[in-house]
Amino acid sequence: MKPMYINGEWTAGSGGETIDIYNPATAEIIDTVPDGTAEDAAKAVAAAKAAFKEWRWVTAFERAEMLQEAANKLREHFDEIVELLTLEEGKAISENEEETEWVIGTLEYYAGLARNVRGRVIPPADRSQFNFIIKEPFGVVACIIPFNYPLLLMIWKVAPALAAGNTVIIKPSDHTPLATLRLAEIVFDHFPPGVVNVVTGRGDRMGEALVEHPDVPLIAFTGSTAIGQRISSLAAKRIKKLHLELGGKDPFVIAPDADVETAAEAVAYAALLNAGQVCTSSERIYVPEQMSQAFTGAIVDFVRGLRLGPGLERTTDIGPMAAPAFREKVASHIAEAKAKGAKVLTGGQAPEKLDQGWFYEPTVLTNVNHSMVIMREETFGPTIPIMTYRTFDEAIELANDTVYGLGACIRTNDARLVKRFFEEVKAGTIWINDPLTDNYAGPFGGMKMTGGGRELGEEGLEGFLETKHVHWDFDDTLKDYWYPY
Ligand code: NAD
Repeated sequence: MKPMYINGEWTAGSGGETIDIYNPATAEIIDTVPDGTAEDAAKAVAAAKAAFKEWRWVTAFERAEMLQEAANKLREHFDEIVELLTLEEGKAISENEEETEWVIGTLEYYAGLARNVRGRVIPPADRSQFNFIIKEPFGVVACIIPFNYPLLLMIWKVAPALAAGNTVIIKPSDHTPLATLRLAEIVFDHFPPGVVNVVTGRGDRMGEALVEHPDVPLIAFTGSTAIGQRISSLAAKRIKKLHLELGGKDPFVIAPDADVETAAEAVAYAALLNAGQVCTSSERIYVPEQMSQAFTGAIVDFVRGLRLGPGLERTTDIGPMAAPAFREKVASHIAEAKAKGAKVLTGGQAPEKLDQGWFYEPTVLTNVNHSMVIMREETFGPTIPIMTYRTFDEAIELANDTVYGLGACIRTNDARLVKRFFEEVKAGTIWINDPLTDNYAGPFGGMKMTGGGRELGEEGLEGFLETKHVHWDFDDTLKDYWYPY
């Protein structure tokens, strides 16, 4: 069993129960972690609260150095972490290398920004006065993480939260806690006890205990919209500050001028990365009517050439899904679409050869429309549902016809269409010709029911700081606007 990390010590927790962690490529148990209780959550909060008293006064420069040191240590353990991530999450090893590079880069980026945390001076209302704005940390931040990018989505919260002077409690997904626990051991071990804690357990027990704890003023959550709603309702009781990074149903519009073959490969990448288990997966593809036949032919040919397999094999393009329930959801969306008239051109089933793990064939569908679940709800799997449009107005209308607003992709070199797309589509990130590429300095987050949090960039640091206005009068004589009137 891999224990939890609370106050710089390793503990099995108080409940005595454990959670099994599986390799999704083989459906075998690879380890177990404690199924943490509310009592364990309270211990972690007490440790983080006590550590905050000192940590908040550690200078920004020292905090920056510690973040840089974490990045250096992770670089030394790069291969080990990549392998562990691949074992517990399943995606292709090159994607886990990229994830780990991103974790290092994010630590370095916020090490840089940590040195630059600042407020500002504003004009006073009277010449005897001095007014300024300072930024201060919240205190204990609970970071609740989903399964699909266990380290990336963790560090997008933890690096800026620490840079800002908060202490953190990380609760990884109960599918993928192992790489995070290993990081506590080898990458975060130089932080003072209690500054970084990692707890494990089920969302409805450990997660809710953290959300409801009175000494946790800020919850940074990435996960499904349904759980985001649950957390919001619990947090409302104490008007807690929330960072919500929730579900998506991103559109990908192919414009009439796009090259068909390149567009097909771009869509395949955007839809199938991590077996479609990406919050910004392109889950709705819109193609001009006149291009439809050529495009579907090209994408079906391309997708059939992709190799499914265990993530640890270098030849694998697409790994398994992370849990059986996720695969069942994909199958149910496809079944509902087929029942309503959709056509499956390739895929649509679990592969016969890889029957041990939780694989699902990449699936291309046509004849889809917005009455189908597969075009409305998050599928979070390797599906490419393609719908045709007649005019660009219609394409924009279809792209916006969703409750979500995370990302949106387009392929075109027509500047007028580009301008319309980035101005009219309601989404937190617009990708033109290069889908799903992030940038350390570019704020990432959503609109509408994806939640309004932003990670990365200066906005990603700002979210972990509270704003305080200081009004200072150097003239301490009586004021003529005091009583009596
Ligand atoms: P999930 O919502 O099931 O779980 C996320 C985390 O919340 C896990 O750690 C889980 O244990 C915890 N949790 C579950 N119930 C809880 C509760 N009642 N109280 C507190 N915590 C609870 O999500 P998932 O299946 O792990 O991840 C997939 C989802 O995450 C998708 O909807 C995807 O779009 C979303 N996601 C969003 C972004 C983004 O940036 N917007 C990024 C990645 C993933």
